[in-house]
Amino acid sequence: MTKPTTTNTGIPVESDDESLTAGRQGPILLHDHYLIEKLAQFNRERVPERIVHAKGSGAYGELVVTGDVSKYTKAKLFQPGARTESLARFSTVAGEQGSPDTWRDPRGFAVKFYTEDGNYDLVGNNTPIFFIKDPIKFPDFIRSQKRLPGNGLRDHNMQWDFWTLRPESAHQVTWLMGDRGIPKTYRHMNGYGSHTYQWINATGERFWVKYHFKTDQGIEFLTQAEADRIAGEDADYHRKDLWEAIERGDFPSWTVYVQVMPVAEAEGYRFNPFDLTKVWSHKDYPLIEVGKWTLNRNPRNYFVDIEQAAFEPSNVVPGIGFSPDKMLLGRVFAYADAHRYRIGTNYAQLPPNQARAAEVNSYSKEGAMRYHYNDPNVPVYAPNSFDGPHADPEKAADTGIWDFDPTIVRAGYVQHAEDGDFTQAGTLVREVLDDAQRERLVDNIVGHVLGGVREPVLSRVFQYWKNVDADLGKRVEEGVRAGLDGSQG
Ligand code: NDP
Repeated sequence: MTKPTTTNTGIPVESDDESLTAGRQGPILLHDHYLIEKLAQFNRERVPERIVHAKGSGAYGELVVTGDVSKYTKAKLFQPGARTESLARFSTVAGEQGSPDTWRDPRGFAVKFYTEDGNYDLVGNNTPIFFIKDPIKFPDFIRSQKRLPGNGLRDHNMQWDFWTLRPESAHQVTWLMGDRGIPKTYRHMNGYGSHTYQWINATGERFWVKYHFKTDQGIEFLTQAEADRIAGEDADYHRKDLWEAIERGDFPSWTVYVQVMPVAEAEGYRFNPFDLTKVWSHKDYPLIEVGKWTLNRNPRNYFVDIEQAAFEPSNVVPGIGFSPDKMLLGRVFAYADAHRYRIGTNYAQLPPNQARAAEVNSYSKEGAMRYHYNDPNVPVYAPNSFDGPHADPEKAADTGIWDFDPTIVRAGYVQHAEDGDFTQAGTLVREVLDDAQRERLVDNIVGHVLGGVREPVLSRVFQYWKNVDADLGKRVEEGVRAGLDGSQG
């Protein structure tokens, strides 16, 4: 039987159709509290969209550990045979909520594991690297990729201005302009933890580690022309694909690997292992299999489960810690802060963010929208004499320990033998891409630059690509100049 409509507090309402008025043509009455509640609630249906990664999709799943990495970490979720419930959110970076899924952009690859030791979040991307290596540059970087303040338009000139003035971006921009800059679907891309993390084993030994989630569906991409067409036809192409695949039981999966570096090797490694614009070569640190990560359950409510999902690199569990990667350390602050602003102080109570396999015994209390509360007989302060929770170092773990020079400085990373803004970008172009991929890379760069890049940025763009690879730079310059001549002729 159809249920009666009620107010938010359960009172049956008189009408779904008519407001209360003084006479048929008279004014609407303020004491029509149901109308007021309906309009006011509607005005508040949106929470602020994320400043970055606003457009996303997600699903639940699980990690099953098939390998044995117990000699590197004591983290329970990575012990042989462990199964852990998980939530994923994939996203574009610069676009807003309604923006097309097929814009050229890195993709967010955020994973939450509901472990026995609390929630562990790995908030990565579909690239193992990033545009910048220090969080002080992040707001500038994102503003340059978003919209001009005056006319509200996106602006390629602004994007290339930033990139060329920050040549550490070259590796990531090369990646972005290549095939992997537009994945065919979220199922057909890899995920990377991107940062370097610390793993700590049961005897207290420490390792540096990088995560790789390799798609079992195979890497597939869209050409710029295909992506442009789909952007017009179906802005939600990737969201729909993920949803429909899971609905029909075609569960996407990824094989999870790590690269592991003994702590003692970091100082002498040819690349600074904490610099987020660099990878660790697979030849130096081969991939070690950890397990299978599968997405098998769609959210029941997009807003509740995905829009309100809060991933935060600060969520690390015993056996896992941070590293001297400055971007990681900056994000450890920034994400939790963003959630407090966006979805409120008590965001950890929301369904996707609650601990599911661990008990929460926190001294946090009250604040807006609080509805979980501790036993009223448990004291609200620590220490106490009445059996309230107390910190147990045996159960906890440090969040990473490393040696450093304690002089306070503002300085870049220590340079290692083969560091350089253009080194690994050049390797990618010359040694990884084949001729057809290089050809598409040139075409994509030329097309993007022709979308409004002007002097003096233009000359810097040519030099930037010549620094990555002389031949690539030459081809980019020729292509852009031909395009400019054509548009003037
Ligand atoms: P390898 O030859 O061992 O690895 C190259 C890797 O590049 C592949 O394993 C694959 O990584 C990735 N790749 C393949 N095609 C593309 C593409 N079109 N765009 C971007 N990446 C692609 O060499 P190294 O490990 O020494 O790395 C050489 C270069 O490869 C690096 O400078 C970096 O640009 C790139 N790379 C390296 C990765 C790493 O973690 N070492 C990861 C990805 C890229 P995957 O298996 O992850 O798909």
